[in-house]
Amino acid sequence: MARYYQPEIETAPREAIRALQGQRLAATVRRVYDRVPFYRNRMQALGLTPEDVRTVDDLHKLPFSCKQDLRDTYPYGLFAVPLRDVVRLHASSGTTGKQIVTGYTKRDLDLWADCCARALTAAGCDETDVVHVSYGYGLFTGGLGADAGAIRLGATTVPVSSGNTQRQITILRDFGSTILCCTPSYALHLAETLYASGCTRDDISLKAGLFGAEPWTNQMRRQLEELLGIRAYDIYGLTEIIGPGVAFECSEQAGMHVNEDHFIVEVIDPDTGEVLPEGQQGELVFSCITKEAFPILRYRTRDIGTISHGTCACGRTLTRMSKPRGRTDDMLIIRGVNVFPSQIETVLLEQGYTANYRIVVDRENNFDSIEVQVEISNEIFSDTVRGLTEKEKALEEALKSLLGVAARVRLLEPNTIACSTGKAVRVVDRRRLLD
Ligand code: ADP
Ligand code: ZN
Repeated sequence: MARYYQPEIETAPREAIRALQGQRLAATVRRVYDRVPFYRNRMQALGLTPEDVRTVDDLHKLPFSCKQDLRDTYPYGLFAVPLRDVVRLHASSGTTGKQIVTGYTKRDLDLWADCCARALTAAGCDETDVVHVSYGYGLFTGGLGADAGAIRLGATTVPVSSGNTQRQITILRDFGSTILCCTPSYALHLAETLYASGCTRDDISLKAGLFGAEPWTNQMRRQLEELLGIRAYDIYGLTEIIGPGVAFECSEQAGMHVNEDHFIVEVIDPDTGEVLPEGQQGELVFSCITKEAFPILRYRTRDIGTISHGTCACGRTLTRMSKPRGRTDDMLIIRGVNVFPSQIETVLLEQGYTANYRIVVDRENNFDSIEVQVEISNEIFSDTVRGLTEKEKALEEALKSLLGVAARVRLLEPNTIACSTGKAVRVVDRRRLLD
């Protein structure tokens, strides 16, 4: 077992984890109260002092924080150390609006590398592996995060970054990469380009992938595993908390273990803010309890999921979170029915289509319409018009029965939907343009 399996933490009894979290939480609350006016003002408004937060059970007393708070204090208002102690800045990719910025001290970078090393280790990576990182390097946390984890555990790291798919393929092949880190949608694009360029599975040495930064389904996991002959692991994180490595999958692939010695996870009702019991679906909320520069507390991620505290078959006792099914703001409301893009992805892949799809939502005569566009192979595309129409109808029926709302389907030629080398853009909501 590689060094970055840390059983003293990863398999510690729950009470020990909670006790450690309580101490670290209390110390963090004290620090931010003393150093960050934002937290002090918020706590004072609720009549709270740092002494009121001594254990994890006191966490609920603290106010939530959200993306708007980062925007309001942009750029450095939530930092708990002076800028001279900050050695790195990152910014969110700005998927949902104005970008936000976070900072790291040397120690923060260190613990982040530990989190990512744990994730890689849980996916079977050790110092004999060649880790191909095609997450973007730069202000986006994906590239540098995975990179630091791979170096930390002594693997051979290939910092390819995103883009230039042909070159990625040459590198995958020639350098004998064994572990691939990128978004799941880009992994699919890489696989398709690989085979289209005449390579076979024997030309590559991949054995595992760590895919994250966007929602993806278990159906997509199976597709990637088959296409690339690998095991595909999920990895979760966000810039505001630290970046990738907040939670990671183990060999059981039954939820992602949260690195609970650094982060506390809660699930809340997104409408009322009430903390929900284990197993109930709601919005994931994280608190940082070891970070120096940017220790955000009770941050509302807008990601929807569940958590479970039971011991995993792998032996880890770290709480597991489900695959997030998407963000509250990705949820489409179509004629009053809630639809997540991930539900559509499930249907597409179950019906044998690929995950190269796009969802176009529009409003026609005050009536919401939804069109699912999906790429098909050249062989299928050269089918007769009648054949294609039948396929579209069949898919429409499958979608209708799962979503409870009618959607139009359009099958498209390969390579019509622009491929992103990072996070895939799944939804075009024309209604927003009309509002
Ligand atoms: P942005 O908020 O601009 O997209 P980030 O790069 O920080 O910036 O993205 C973090 C978000 O990406 C998470 O809040 C979540 O919505 C999504 N995400 C990250 N990892 C996963 C994952 N494994 N599964 C689903 N969604 C993920
Ligand atoms: Zn496990």
